[in-house]
Amino acid sequence: MHCPFCGADDTKVIDSRLVADGDQVRRRRECVQCRDRFTTYELAELLMPRVIKRDDTREPFDEEKLRSGLHRALEKRPVSVEQIEAALSQIKRFLQSTGEREISAQIIGEKVMDQLRELDDVAYVRFASVYRSFQDLNEFRAELDRLEEESGQKGSGK
Ligand SMILES: [Zn+2]
Repeated sequence: MHCPFCGADDTKVIDSRLVADGDQVRRRRECVQCRDRFTTYELAELLMPRVIKRDDTREPFDEEKLRSGLHRALEKRPVSVEQIEAALSQIKRFLQSTGEREISAQIIGEKVMDQLRELDDVAYVRFASVYRSFQDLNEFRAELDRLEEESGQKGSGK
């Protein structure tokens, strides 16, 4: 970012924090030439870490892709658009809070599954089956058993 005082190309960030309920990031910067300091408010989207894919390539975080994935998993399920958006915000906030510049797609996937598990068991299993690609069928079956057990307990508990 250019220095607003002397126009130098190089400024360094000396402090960075989320503001406006996590939607913005406030940065204190110092010019490396004139040493003047200034503050910027940037959309927190800029803070989104890049995604490290399984083949070790990197790509920018794609909110639309994540949203459409959630919608697909939650198709014909009793979950509102507002709930989906709230889950999406949770995931984004988590990613921002890590402060990492790069984050593995696997960690994002786990986070998505956490959110889906809270929203809807069926959607969770749907997503998990695609996401983990059934690499470990036993694990997947155990998860199904666990979900069945849980929903059984929910029913009898009330
Ligand atoms: Zn300057």
